[in-house]
Amino acid sequence: MKAVVFNQYGGPEVLRYTDVPEPQIGSRDILVRVRACALNHLDLWVRKGIPGVEIPMPHILGSDISGEVEKIGAEVMHVGVGERVLLAPGISCGLCAQCAAGKDNLCRHYTLFGYKVDGGYAEYVKSPAANAVTIPAHMSFEEAAAFPLVFLTAWHMLITRAALKPAEEVLVLGAGSGVGSAAIQIAKIVGARVIATAGSEAKLAKAKEIGADEVFLHGPREWSRDVRQLTNRRGVDVVFEHVGEKTWDESLKSLAPAGRLVTCGATTGYEGKIDIRFLFTRQLSILGSYMGSRAELFDAVKLASRYLLKPVIDKVFPLSQAAEAQRRLENREQFGKIVLRVE
Ligand SMILES: [Zn+2]
Repeated sequence: MKAVVFNQYGGPEVLRYTDVPEPQIGSRDILVRVRACALNHLDLWVRKGIPGVEIPMPHILGSDISGEVEKIGAEVMHVGVGERVLLAPGISCGLCAQCAAGKDNLCRHYTLFGYKVDGGYAEYVKSPAANAVTIPAHMSFEEAAAFPLVFLTAWHMLITRAALKPAEEVLVLGAGSGVGSAAIQIAKIVGARVIATAGSEAKLAKAKEIGADEVFLHGPREWSRDVRQLTNRRGVDVVFEHVGEKTWDESLKSLAPAGRLVTCGATTGYEGKIDIRFLFTRQLSILGSYMGSRAELFDAVKLASRYLLKPVIDKVFPLSQAAEAQRRLENREQFGKIVLRVE
């Protein structure tokens, strides 16, 4: 089969479009003929190499996969050949206490497609049958691939971790990112008032189109003042963080008393400071969040099938141009998801 692989860590130039053997499936697996695979920042981290994490080489990236079921293992019952599926990006053991409790993203064996196992930058991918989710009839393969990781992540952050409520106000950083565009939509379904930031006027306009009530340009300035101004000096109940070091201080300053900062990433750096007096006197919460459970993904897909959530697609590239697609993500030129189409 054709696939984009890399044999050494490095820049986009290490990605090679080449022939590799088709994966062999086990009795509880399915083989999926990939039709689309969306990019995530994780792809860039894995390609560059993460200190202390060993990636099997040659490696195939890609956590967000949609396609058709090509083959099923002998024990697979709930999904059939030819079905249009998207794949839950997280793979867990299915056997431990956390998995049994439906918290598969807390499983100690939890990993993702394209991380410790081969992903979707390929014509075929092997998947546990349990990861297959039927694609709503109106969604294209590109839309289906653009959906799982960011909507699952944003859902777990806002609904499960931060327990966002209708009367509350939420600040969504980086509306142009896939996870930001998902967060705006989920927060609007809850009924919250959404303040969103982005790096350009064009992106602010798009953030409003997908539901943001208020928007402002972020950047190296004290934008928590904008948040105060937009909230009658109170601050927001929830800050949706994924930027990290560059925004951490201003994010904390944007919180109302008893506010929650929920974070799933640190694309600009890992160090964040906090004045502990500020944390306890204002009764703040800092919540970490990583991916989400399969049950949460089923909920999010249900809302997509009702047209309430809609993946935002920035640009579609053919699989052979994966390196070009990654450069676009790396340069933060996108609004929404960059998707690879697999012919
Ligand atoms: Zn487990």
